[in-house]
Amino acid sequence: MTVTTNEGWNLDNSYQRLPGLFYSRVQPTPVEDPEVVMFNQALATELGLDASNLEKSADLFSGNRLPEGGLPIAQAYAGHQFGHFTMLGDGRAVLLGEHITPDGRRVDIQLKGSGRTPYSRGGDGRSSLGPMLREYLISEAMYGLKIPTNRSLAVVTTGESVEREVAFPGAILTRVANSHLRVGTFQYARNWGEKEDLQKLADYAIDRHYPELKNDDNKYISFLKEVIRKQAGLIAKWQLVGFIHGVMNTDNVTISGETIDYGPCAFMDTYDKRTVFSSIDVRGRYAYGNQPDIGGWDLSRFAEAILLLIDDDEDKALEAAKEAIQEYLHLYDQYWLTGMRKKLGLFDEEEADGELIHRLLDLMEQHQADYTNTFRSLTLDQFDKKMRLFQANAFKQWYEKWQARLARQSETTEQTQQLMMANNPSIIPRNYLVEEAIEKAVSENDYSVMEKLLAALSNPYAYSEEQEEYAVLPPKPDEPYQTFCGT
Ligand code: AMP
Ligand code: MG
Repeated sequence: MTVTTNEGWNLDNSYQRLPGLFYSRVQPTPVEDPEVVMFNQALATELGLDASNLEKSADLFSGNRLPEGGLPIAQAYAGHQFGHFTMLGDGRAVLLGEHITPDGRRVDIQLKGSGRTPYSRGGDGRSSLGPMLREYLISEAMYGLKIPTNRSLAVVTTGESVEREVAFPGAILTRVANSHLRVGTFQYARNWGEKEDLQKLADYAIDRHYPELKNDDNKYISFLKEVIRKQAGLIAKWQLVGFIHGVMNTDNVTISGETIDYGPCAFMDTYDKRTVFSSIDVRGRYAYGNQPDIGGWDLSRFAEAILLLIDDDEDKALEAAKEAIQEYLHLYDQYWLTGMRKKLGLFDEEEADGELIHRLLDLMEQHQADYTNTFRSLTLDQFDKKMRLFQANAFKQWYEKWQARLARQSETTEQTQQLMMANNPSIIPRNYLVEEAIEKAVSENDYSVMEKLLAALSNPYAYSEEQEEYAVLPPKPDEPYQTFCGT
């Protein structure tokens, strides 16, 4: 049922102008007793929506009522999951439509946990509250960290329970994304569509995300290169803050270059390239230190999927695609090194900077130093006595070298510190903080802990007094922490 409201929706459905194989029309399955538990006022306002009218729209955020102009669909896609190719699709999500903001941006409005779709396979199409709150919290924290990401507009509880190992309260998350086009969408087109379908999808993606490429001589090779560049930049940003995505399957790699699919993701405390949190990633395929290479693997699957469009001559297409893929690690290294220089307050470039950076990381690994707090300490020039790293002679030698390096640039100490503060978050959503906030909300219906944490994380570069309680070293950092997909 659609009702006219003053919520400010301006919905279009451009994705549905693609061939029918790319989606299925589907209605969200109504829920019993929806209640809004999280609402993102700032995001609603930013999107030109009427926050005060929307705030209590539990019927809307649950899918019980459609927004004006909404025409819900589930999107079809495929993907390599842990290396194995399979047909997927939105099994528990529906796209309500694309909202056009007053300043002309187009964003997908999607409900996650809204019931079964033709792509649900054995699943119930539902989500439980804990994982939806987790996605809300971490995606908004990523936004605060200035990392491209989908956003979270609201969470509703459904008044129903979902059966997992035990029964959990059901919930639905409203996600906002630049689009939900994935590498897996192209793999789907390549495997289940004709060349014409693939081309229509590519043209759609170029129009929506890379319109500046439209008139290029070979816009599809330009498209491949730009997607590669965006992902290289994104993954470098993850590495720089210690974010571990956890499921870098090709269906979770976006064409727009946004972080998407917050399942088992988590932030690393102790610096260790082998860090894995996801319970199902038993071989560490998506470990922290593997993320850049896996990004390259995923992008190779993207290149394969659109190869047909690049050149009619298969050898020529392959040659061009290979060249673009080879550029990926080079781009990644550049983005990472640029970011690391900023983390150390370096404005200019010296040949030996890489060595200086790697020496620090080696020492951090050796002394099991907390990643975030090492850089926080360097930024503040205050060294936590509880961190072994700072007692080590080798660190003291490194510090002297770094100070000498800083002295060779003309910027003032204040300027250097400003640069470091803007690039080293004072706080991150630490695992124990996230768990505590979710636990309070789910078990005691108390959202104040989560709201307070979200507020602190909205500007992690503020170095404010209110953030200090979140900046202490985590308790028992060595205790193995496990995350789950939340399916
Ligand atoms: P994800 O792990 O969220 O990337 O999901 C992988 C695939 O499983 C996607 O096709 C999802 O739509 C589907 N899926 C995950 N959870 C459910 C569920 N509860 N019911 C139906 N499909 C699901
Ligand atoms: Mg996914």
